[in-house]
Amino acid sequence: MSTAKEHKPVVIVGAGVSGLALGNFLLREGIDCVVLERRDRDHVERRQRAGVIDTRATRAFRKRGLEDRVVGGTPVQAGLGFRIDGQDRWLELPAEEYREGRFCPQQVLVRNLITVFEQDGGDLRFGTEVTVEDIDRPRVRLGDGSIIEGDFIAGCDGSHGATRAAIPENRLTRHSHEYGYAWLVVLAEVPAVHPTLLAIHRRGFAAQFGRGPTASRFYLQCPLDDTAEDWPDERVWSELETRFGEPIATRGPIVEKQPLPLRGEVLSPMSHGGLHLLGDAAHIVPPSSAKGMNLALYDADVFAEALVGYYRHDDPSLLAAYSDNRLRDVWNYQAFATWFTDTVHDAGDATYRGEFRHQVARADFERLFTSGPANRLLGEFIAGLN
Ligand SMILES: Cc1cc2nc3c(=O)[nH]c(=O)nc-3n(C[C@H](O)[C@H](O)[C@H](O)COP(=O)(O)OP(=O)(O)OC[C@H]3O[C@@H](n4cnc5c(N)ncnc54)[C@H](O)[C@@H]3O)c2cc1C
Repeated sequence: MSTAKEHKPVVIVGAGVSGLALGNFLLREGIDCVVLERRDRDHVERRQRAGVIDTRATRAFRKRGLEDRVVGGTPVQAGLGFRIDGQDRWLELPAEEYREGRFCPQQVLVRNLITVFEQDGGDLRFGTEVTVEDIDRPRVRLGDGSIIEGDFIAGCDGSHGATRAAIPENRLTRHSHEYGYAWLVVLAEVPAVHPTLLAIHRRGFAAQFGRGPTASRFYLQCPLDDTAEDWPDERVWSELETRFGEPIATRGPIVEKQPLPLRGEVLSPMSHGGLHLLGDAAHIVPPSSAKGMNLALYDADVFAEALVGYYRHDDPSLLAAYSDNRLRDVWNYQAFATWFTDTVHDAGDATYRGEFRHQVARADFERLFTSGPANRLLGEFIAGLN
């Protein structure tokens, strides 16, 4: 029996934000592609993670005429709300260009990207587990045994996907960093009292972010060896109240609760023969930086431009430079993620890294409120414009 075989110029593995954004960007340019996703549609559309599309990512949709159809939600605030040892402090980020981002839950963005891709005639296949057969002469095998050959494979399948695993170890360097603490990541069916609240407290960092009208994400800094069983719901609510310094008005059902060790990772290079990595497949930043989804969208933006150069202008130079260009940018955001994450954690609980780091973090933190350049730099990073 012969194996079914087809050819698609660009084979996109994974229908998360990076794969779906790339698929939509290519469709707008008339570049044929297929998006292959191992999970079913319902699972992908319900997966709750990030909540903010920053200015730079919003502009990537706008320049392709997709902003109104894809980017939902409400405009971001002009600053960040902190509660430091129980005292509220509002960090104003005044520049107008920092405010083009949107509060948009990741699952809403994903749902919109799927709808638009299908409306515009895109080829999207759910329930299709991919294995990569060849990265130099790009070729993938689907769960039913059929083969798709392409000019390129876009590895958009996250940090546990098949594409990064297909790269021989001797062609790849992994750089990783463990922060030394974890977050208990909680999703609760309660409306957010504050759209964003970051609490700096001696018992550890805590945060609340709205995720639509009836859901909130809560984060609690915890030791690396804590398990979900160490955190019964009552302990979660009472610890949030202690660190926020106020009662939680509504204690709704907790629908997700898992410890997440904070870590950073970069795979270098991001291009291998015909395989190019995007998003979490290539790099991880801790959720404290709110950049993982946005970096995935920047990758899709830059890789789509590179493919337009290749197919439409017979110019492979952007494709050849994709990995170097993205890595420069990714390390810039790793630097921001490391500084911001350490500062908001060290400024609170001194037991992880000591009183010296605690005092340094407090001084660093204060500078954000008193120094125009420091405030501007933070705003640029948050907006994605640095
Ligand atoms: C709790 C949490 C909170 C976060 N908060 C934020 C935040 O506030 N801001 C922010 O910017 N980022 C945040 N992030 C990070 C953000 O969610 C990720 O960076 C983003 O999802 C990366 O997108 P991606 O497209 O690279 O990968 P993913 O969204 O993970 O998509 C990968 C897709 O590939 C599919 N796949 C995997 N293997 C295969 C295979 N073999 N064949 C076919 N398909 C496959 C998967 O099923 C999945 O659908 C958070 C993450 C977590 C976990």
